[in-house]
Amino acid sequence: MEYFSCLIQRAALDNQVPYHPRCKALEITHLCFADDLLVFTNGSIRGVAGINRVLAQFYRDSGLRSNPAKCQLFCCGTSVEEQQWISSFTGFPLGSLPVRYLGVPLISGKLTSADCSVLVDRITKRISTWQALKLSYAGRLQLVSSVITSIMQYWMALFLLPQKLLKAIENICNHFLWGVGDRSLRKRVLVAWKYVALPRREGGLGIRDFKKWNQACVIRHIWNLLAVSGSLWVAWVKKYRLKTRSIWEITGQSAGTWIWRKILKSREGVQSHISGSGESLAWDNRVLPRYSVKLVWKAIRESQEEVDWYKVVWGKPFSPKHSLLLWLVILNRITTKEKLQSWGLTDDSSCGLCPGGIETRDHLFSGCSYGRSVFVAVLSKFCRFPECSTWQDQLQWAIRQWAGSSGGCCEGRLKWSMCVSYIWRERCSRAHDGVFCPPSRLAGRIEDEAKWTLATRLS
Ligand SMILES: [Zn+2]
Repeated sequence: MEYFSCLIQRAALDNQVPYHPRCKALEITHLCFADDLLVFTNGSIRGVAGINRVLAQFYRDSGLRSNPAKCQLFCCGTSVEEQQWISSFTGFPLGSLPVRYLGVPLISGKLTSADCSVLVDRITKRISTWQALKLSYAGRLQLVSSVITSIMQYWMALFLLPQKLLKAIENICNHFLWGVGDRSLRKRVLVAWKYVALPRREGGLGIRDFKKWNQACVIRHIWNLLAVSGSLWVAWVKKYRLKTRSIWEITGQSAGTWIWRKILKSREGVQSHISGSGESLAWDNRVLPRYSVKLVWKAIRESQEEVDWYKVVWGKPFSPKHSLLLWLVILNRITTKEKLQSWGLTDDSSCGLCPGGIETRDHLFSGCSYGRSVFVAVLSKFCRFPECSTWQDQLQWAIRQWAGSSGGCCEGRLKWSMCVSYIWRERCSRAHDGVFCPPSRLAGRIEDEAKWTLATRLS
């Protein structure tokens, strides 16, 4: 490809291949990445013939020939007759936008959900390979927050994705997270995505909400223009769109492509934060060596009030599966029998751990004699487990007791969350498998796992 670049650049300098009018100042003849090659000219007979000559010479010298079946012509500002002539002269069929380039649609108009169907397909395909695996909620969360968001990252860095598309992806992720549709029809979305996609401090699971994250990614284009980063896109936009003006001075938001207009619109949320330009470019008066999506995301999102329990749930040395279960318990989203009964899925709402109780969240973790025996056995070794009449009282007690960062707090909140998680697990194994474990043995298992977790996570 380097040889082809030399040939076409020489042809352009000799005026055999005239530059495209929007490429002349930067002397752009072509763009090439891996196997993809885009060649530009002004659409004149001389230009088309010149490109043909360059391709022919490249074939003679290298033995590599362009395959007309894999090439397309994209014309603008030329008549239909001219386009047909160019097509028959070169042997390349006429194409129409959008076409995929480097995996994303090359488009000048509005980006629609249909243009991004390939992204949804990729995510759906990836998720379907995980559905057969027996994963915990914590495992599912990890896959969504790492793999799915990294698949989306590439697209988000380029385009402001349609709202409808982001909603559809959120739905796919949330259904996968809660196991909806994979094995049991009883599975439901336990927590709506708008809560899942909140920072942990604000009561969520720490997944970034796609809409604001996407906006923060796109604002990078503004940053790059102000920083005068060395990309070809920045040079091109400065030459043909900004000319002598700064990005802040552009007023006509109706001009340019849809994507350009979206970039201009995204200035609104950040203009007050950005100052300077070039090497002195600053965010909130702090000069940054590079653009920080996280910082911008924090600035443009509407933050919620912090929840008082986030440290006891997510403070060190949390264990993802136990913390996530505790989070569900705090939000009262575990599927207790009482809840299943209200959904019409069971007639029996009695507690499977003790005689006589109704299985509610509050009963299991504060009223149930089995649950209480486990808490006392595990926690009474280093604190006095209180008589709490409700779950809320117990939660407030745990916050007072273990929100700090001392070793005792770490051990306390870990063991407390494990008690909650193990009691729930015992309830499930009794309900589904008929396997019983007495409180003392369950407490022993908790002790063993806690010892291991403390040794590995705090060391
Ligand atoms: Zn009970």
